[in-house]
Amino acid sequence: MTSGRALDHVTGLVCVVDGKMYPADFAGYVSPDYGNEGILDVRYDYERIAGRFTQADLAANPDRTMWRYRPLMPVADDAEVPPLTVGGTPMYDAPRLAADLGLAQVLVKDEGRQPTASLKDRASAMAIVKAREAGAEVITTASTGNAAAALSGLCASMGQRNVIFVPASAPEAKIAQLLAYGSTVALVDGTYTDAFELCMEASAHYGWYNRNTGYNPYMTEGKKTAGLEILEDLGWEPPDAIFVSVGDGSIIGGVHKAMKDAMGLGWIERSPRIFGIQSAGSDYLVQAFESGEDVFTKAPISADTVADSISADLPRDRIKAMNAATQTGGAYLRVTDDEILAAVPTLARGSGVFAEPAGAAAYAGLIKAVDNGLVGADDRVVVLSTGSGLKDVASAMKAVAMAKTEPMRIAPSLSALQEALNT
Ligand SMILES: *Cc1c(COP(=O)(O)O)cnc(C)c1O
Repeated sequence: MTSGRALDHVTGLVCVVDGKMYPADFAGYVSPDYGNEGILDVRYDYERIAGRFTQADLAANPDRTMWRYRPLMPVADDAEVPPLTVGGTPMYDAPRLAADLGLAQVLVKDEGRQPTASLKDRASAMAIVKAREAGAEVITTASTGNAAAALSGLCASMGQRNVIFVPASAPEAKIAQLLAYGSTVALVDGTYTDAFELCMEASAHYGWYNRNTGYNPYMTEGKKTAGLEILEDLGWEPPDAIFVSVGDGSIIGGVHKAMKDAMGLGWIERSPRIFGIQSAGSDYLVQAFESGEDVFTKAPISADTVADSISADLPRDRIKAMNAATQTGGAYLRVTDDEILAAVPTLARGSGVFAEPAGAAAYAGLIKAVDNGLVGADDRVVVLSTGSGLKDVASAMKAVAMAKTEPMRIAPSLSALQEALNT
């Protein structure tokens, strides 16, 4: 069960399938009318919030973590939050990338700088606060790896019991994180979908608090803080476009939510166009964007991509994800695995940000959007680099080999170095 606490700035939870409103203290994760698919969206009383939370308050607040946006989040003023520093990630100007692409400005927000090295920390921090509010003893999640590592690390910071389900094929670094943090780890012989279904069954059976993406409505509210930071860093002058890689579609939905919140408060007048980037091997939402098919009923695909964090047969948060592009004048674009791998060194060399494949996919998508004329010379563009390159060193090595980058193998002498440098 989720929370039972009423908060005066939350007006309710709206089912994204049919718009039915549930009370703010509704004790469930999803609308009961649609099985596990009736995803809810938290709604706020912006007038009330605007009366006690201003841009000047933010400017005067020395707290750089995601909790600086607490008046816009579904948590009580006095709720205890994890001690790890989540949020406040840097956004770098990358003029060489902008020049290469012929754009006015390219900014790279580095979510690899989070405590467990991906954007997922924002959602997992929120999950822990909501789980404690609900009095849960155990928190669980299924994940392709990063959401699990995030929950695991944040739980460790608070001594919170947790059970994790990941596909056995998850990159080793992510599994190492789970084990180091001391989670109870189930490596599931199957896909992310299999891990997800098992986690759902187990949480219902044991009464564990469920953090699953595209099921627990509060995850969007944690992830949106990345979007709020983008806006605040730019002095509430929205960029023209934001590029986000998409698996389940929860991050992109969160970025969109940030824009809606900022518009609701009157802090920005228009939303940037939001572009969702998927791998050609995991392109459910691109297919639906192109065909106009309803994502509520569209059948799952069979996903396979090098970018494990964005591999999803059936994007769980697909309704919010599709709205993010269609309601902002953005689009869904597909990039190949080779284009994703090529983007790892390109982004690293052009900005100093080393991303895992799913993070670099957003940059590969920007290249595609430039080629297709979707963004151009006047545009200021933000690329959300969602996770650190150290998460998946094997893919990084593959990427640099593809870019024909080889180290010099030399004897430990100056003459050997000189010889190598001359060839
Ligand atoms: C989870 C994740 C994504 C995709 O987020 P969704 O909410 O599943 O769309 C992208 N990049 C990284 C590094 C991730 O961990």
